[in-house]
Amino acid sequence: MKSKADKKDLTRRLAEIVGDDAVLTDEQELVVYECDAYTLQKNLPTAVVLPKSAREVAAIVRLCADLDLPIIPRGAGTSLSGAVLAVDGGVMIALTRMNRVLNVDPRNRRALVEAGCVNAWITRDAEKHGLFYAPDPSSQPACTIGGNIATNSGGPHTLKNGVTTNHVLGYEMVLPDGTVEWLGVEPNGGEEVGGYDLRGAGIGSEGMFGVVTRALVRLSKTPPAFKTFLGVFASVEQASRAVSDIIAAGIVPAALEMMDQLITQALEEAYRFGFPLDAGAVLIVELDGLANGVEQQARQVDEICRQNKASEVRLARDDAERAALWKCRKRAFGAIGRLSPNYVTQDGVVPRGKLPEIMRFIRTVSERHDLRIPNVFHAGDGNIHPLILYDERDPAQVKRALQAGDDILGKCIELGGSVTGEHGIGAEKIDFMSRQFTRDDLEAMQQLRRVFDPEKRCNPHKMFPGAKRCAEFTQKKQVAA
Ligand SMILES: Cc1cc2nc3c(=O)[nH]c(=O)nc-3n(C[C@H](O)[C@H](O)[C@H](O)COP(=O)(O)OP(=O)(O)OC[C@H]3O[C@@H](n4cnc5c(N)ncnc54)[C@H](O)[C@@H]3O)c2cc1C
Repeated sequence: MKSKADKKDLTRRLAEIVGDDAVLTDEQELVVYECDAYTLQKNLPTAVVLPKSAREVAAIVRLCADLDLPIIPRGAGTSLSGAVLAVDGGVMIALTRMNRVLNVDPRNRRALVEAGCVNAWITRDAEKHGLFYAPDPSSQPACTIGGNIATNSGGPHTLKNGVTTNHVLGYEMVLPDGTVEWLGVEPNGGEEVGGYDLRGAGIGSEGMFGVVTRALVRLSKTPPAFKTFLGVFASVEQASRAVSDIIAAGIVPAALEMMDQLITQALEEAYRFGFPLDAGAVLIVELDGLANGVEQQARQVDEICRQNKASEVRLARDDAERAALWKCRKRAFGAIGRLSPNYVTQDGVVPRGKLPEIMRFIRTVSERHDLRIPNVFHAGDGNIHPLILYDERDPAQVKRALQAGDDILGKCIELGGSVTGEHGIGAEKIDFMSRQFTRDDLEAMQQLRRVFDPEKRCNPHKMFPGAKRCAEFTQKKQVAA
């Protein structure tokens, strides 16, 4: 870490801004912040600071600018791409004490929230008005709106509803020089603003443009009717064909999710939902809207699943069964703990029609590297999440897990897809950027970044090829080479 201040001085000056109880510098405390949910790279930040207002955030950011220190914005740390990693030390600004829903405005169908507000809390406060906040990452009981904005989060129900960028009207951001700007629609503003869409530019910028402190989000009307099915198939290929046929029939389900056999077995052991243990894959199809339309689409979906040799199409009998099914789906990553001490979640995208091909490929990768790779994913979006299981105590397995991930993401590019659908690039997928984008593309992205952060101090060493890596990870990669 290059800095004009020693650690003691830094701690004192941060404490002057936020108070002693909001600055962490002891190693034991910092360990919690050494990585996010991508655990293959770790490094301690120099300090973690927990502000309670945008004014405090701005003062911290100005101090870091003064001392030429990196800043790393952090929400709940659920990122799966190493996006919250203090590669070179620096001050991690954790927004978890700025977590209020400031107001819900049912008339205008909006809510104003602090950036550290947990995603699920917005719907919790809006549902008494018959409203909900649509983007629903499976991590929604923990992840924050600031993190969702920085990664442009998706979720099971974003197939029909759209992702974070479609539901965030505007937000307040502290820029890396400490100035506070509001991008997009302001809290009392109309539905649109003119000029370039800087709001949109910042969504998905992975914490590299500044620190989001408040957001104005759009609320949606809770649909009057739902129908949720579990389609049971002998193979992932059959289930994938059903996915393509449903979309080709002009139906856009609210959610269209797939889980393969390993995942359903692990979930069954954990939650006893009643998943068939011999199924090669199950599809969760949720339809929502007006009762008549939903009824008609339900008949079509049932028919399409059976045409694709579904052995069973089971309709959730009531709200409780529907909720239980979603609980299982959203806890699928957690259930992996029953299968393996460690796993790395990949996040690739392929054109929907290529799902059978990528699933076959993943099977060959699993065999080649002798690693189990269960799959649970947003099938309707062609957004795959192979979970590569390994044991970090065995360096040979770490090596094979890294290689397996590279193989799968390389194939996604080859099939015309992308190396991320929703988790972002972070520190994890940097090497793939120059495979997916040209040098000119990357330079254009860097130019945009420089508009917000000319000194590249905000969440540095992410996204772009050539960025510095944690020493331990470089070693792991060398072993893998
Ligand atoms: C079990 C599990 C399931 C998941 N399911 C999904 C899913 O369905 N869909 C999906 O999209 N993702 C999913 N994720 C990934 C993750 O939850 C999302 O990326 C989420 O948006 C991260 O939010 P967070 O608050 O944890 O942010 P963090 O992990 O803390 O940070 C993520 C990124 O956002 C930046 N950031 C955080 N807060 C701010 C801020 N206030 N201002 C500026 N930048 C900020 C960070 O610097 C970092 O670049 C899942 C993760 C887990 C562990």
